[in-house]
Amino acid sequence: MTSIKLADRVTSIRVSPSTAAAQKVRDLKAQGREILNLTVGEPDFDTPQSIKDAAIEAINAGDTKYTSVNGTEALRKAVQHDYKTRLNIDCELNEICVGGGAKQVLFVALMATVQEGDEVIIPAPYWVSYPDMVIANGGTPVIVKCGEDVGFKLTPEVLEASITPATKWVILNSPSNPTGAAYTAAELRALGDVLVKHPHVLVMCDEIYDRIWYADFDVCSILGVCPELKNQALVSNGVSKSYAMTGWRIGYAVGPLELVNAINKLQSQMSSCPSSVSQAAAAYALTADQSGVDEAVEVYRARRDRAHELINAIPELTCTLPDGAFYLYPCCAGAIGKTTPEGKKIENDLDFGLYLLDTAGVASVHGGAYGLEPYFRISTATSMEEIEAACAKIAEACAALS
Ligand code: PMP
Repeated sequence: MTSIKLADRVTSIRVSPSTAAAQKVRDLKAQGREILNLTVGEPDFDTPQSIKDAAIEAINAGDTKYTSVNGTEALRKAVQHDYKTRLNIDCELNEICVGGGAKQVLFVALMATVQEGDEVIIPAPYWVSYPDMVIANGGTPVIVKCGEDVGFKLTPEVLEASITPATKWVILNSPSNPTGAAYTAAELRALGDVLVKHPHVLVMCDEIYDRIWYADFDVCSILGVCPELKNQALVSNGVSKSYAMTGWRIGYAVGPLELVNAINKLQSQMSSCPSSVSQAAAAYALTADQSGVDEAVEVYRARRDRAHELINAIPELTCTLPDGAFYLYPCCAGAIGKTTPEGKKIENDLDFGLYLLDTAGVASVHGGAYGLEPYFRISTATSMEEIEAACAKIAEACAALS
């Protein structure tokens, strides 16, 4: 076999740990092990039939060609309307770009702006992809730990202290994967007050879970709260999570025209445009009756409440109540330092996660993957039965520790 010298940008990054965990579950299941899988990062619902029908109609109507690089006008109009009505964000159609999932939009935004030596502030716990996306584009992730004491959220003081002349971006994810924590309007206002003082800093707001919302305060976005950040904020979202459309690969963002044009220029050389059929389906999803989303949120809410109750009943674990998304991020500090029935000491959350997998047959993702230990992420994008069975197994496994 010849050995290919790969580019540094590839060798310096990891395969996503949550993808790796999901693969491990598939491998164990293929070996015949029964695994309760709490690693899932996508809705367990199917895409609603009406959205599928809209896609089929689009195919039959001949929407099967390249679209404009920045996405169809129908989809950008739908995004514009959604941002205005839900988040109070005003934008022109040419300030919106559409890509093959929010992940791609965020990656290309970094590619369009980050130079060697640029710093990107990433509050931890973070979505696993942010640091690697930054590294792949030659930047330096600056990880800022935001503990449970501050609700897993970046504070204005910590933001101010983290900004240097080399700071290019700060990334905010609300509601968060993995904690479910969401920023209030007042918290965003306070962060915005810091950012306006540093016009060289851009803010990337990843709001992919903002329709899966349980908090008793209203959903909000930094650009809606601080319109004066118009030249600094990129607000991204997509249809993957809200409409159970992960496989359709549509994400979008609103941002400064110069940045959006740069993203489009790169996209013109990378993919030309996202799938025409998926764009038609996404435009339909955003503009159709939203009661399907509300129903899904009530299902997720019931699972969140049950998982929260069951986890907190386990003496070794504690868990905050998520404001949104479909994850919980329990703290397993009470299990660290204990010994398994096989005589192995649990040194950290990776050991704890492996113990749960081996002994209880429960798959989760350890907190180290998200940059804040000792925690583990469980997903509620699975049935209530699986959540209850998994929590019972976790309780048994914890009780067996000494
Ligand atoms: N941001 C976060 C925080 C996510 O969890 C995900 C999906 N795992 C994405 C972005 C990417 O979503 P998309 O399917 O639109 O690429």
